[in-house]
Amino acid sequence: MQKYDYLIVGAGLFGSVFAHEATKKGKTCLVIDRRSHLGGNVYCENVDGINVHKYGAHIFHTNDKDIWDYVNQFVTFNNYINSPLSLSKGKLYNLPFNMNTFHQLWGVKTPSEAKQIIEEQIKTHGVKNPKNLEEQALSLIGKDIYETLIKEYTEKQWGKKATELPAFIIKRLPVRYTFDNNYFNDRYQGIPNGGYNKITESLLEGIETRTGVDFLKNRNELEALAKKVVYTGNIDEYYDYKFGKLEYRSLRFEHEVLDMDNYQANAVVNYNDADVPYTRILEHKHFEFGKQKHTVVTKEYPETWTPNKEAYYPVNNDENQQKYKKYKQLSLTESNVIFGGRLAEYRYYDMHQVIGSALAKTRQELNP
Ligand code: UDP
Repeated sequence: MQKYDYLIVGAGLFGSVFAHEATKKGKTCLVIDRRSHLGGNVYCENVDGINVHKYGAHIFHTNDKDIWDYVNQFVTFNNYINSPLSLSKGKLYNLPFNMNTFHQLWGVKTPSEAKQIIEEQIKTHGVKNPKNLEEQALSLIGKDIYETLIKEYTEKQWGKKATELPAFIIKRLPVRYTFDNNYFNDRYQGIPNGGYNKITESLLEGIETRTGVDFLKNRNELEALAKKVVYTGNIDEYYDYKFGKLEYRSLRFEHEVLDMDNYQANAVVNYNDADVPYTRILEHKHFEFGKQKHTVVTKEYPETWTPNKEAYYPVNNDENQQKYKKYKQLSLTESNVIFGGRLAEYRYYDMHQVIGSALAKTRQELNP
């Protein structure tokens, strides 16, 4: 019996936005997730009054006023601006690459001094058409920054040589000739007041949800419940890896409550050096200017992905993109399944892009 219009597999941002919009249009939805909670990777756990980002740092940012207005229907945002630091060979540097970084690295005080060094290095080491992350970084910012703040972090993060990674990844980071440590260039930024769960809880309010339910393990029975499926898991797993496995990068998080009020004086500190096994330490209270007597920190360890682990990042190199194209072609032939989100679209989406994708797919589906 098809009790629902949509069975939504995955209660992250894509699934929650889709469910919300479909419900608004009078459709019935059942949202399931194999985890024991809703919210996907934006889920936070409140530990003694501190919202702990259980699946890594999430900082909302967008340049798109419509998406900003959309999320502001559900929650207000604080004025947190992400300004991570990076520790490299015992020295702290500001990120993204800006006049503070250049001053810390070379002692320069003006943009023209910084530009002279960077342009010289680009001339010596850069290439015209960068084909991989290393070439892109050398062509964008030169050898010193690449070697001090990019190479080891990147190779640790992805478990691959920077020459084997796609160039676009490094273009996520701004390069700026002002003393401005804002990690993002977007107009709107912040952390939801009250935490991310407020967004997903509001999106899913009044909608039937079930946690601890694994779609692929109970496929026939679950598919029979709805006219259509919205699938937000790994696309290759959906098709039982018939064209081979796509590569992902996994993470392991070590959370710790510390009996001190301020551990590292910043929400995010990156660890560039290859001999430190984690890429960053988060101190969650600083996302919300917390004044608690204790603090919670999280170390983020990158890990090889295998099918029994959580997939966090798609590895969008040429080989994986070719494979993904086959899965995508196949997915387009499905009339009753909609694929969306970081894992089903195999894209390195930020939160605002996932919401954008979900809204576009919802419009396509509900107002054809
Ligand atoms: N990156 C780097 N050094 C840093 C931070 C980032 O080289 O200190 C590079 C690295 O390749 C990383 C990419 O920039 O994968 C994107 O970083 P971002 O902070 O956007 O990654 P996310 O927060 O999505 O993990």
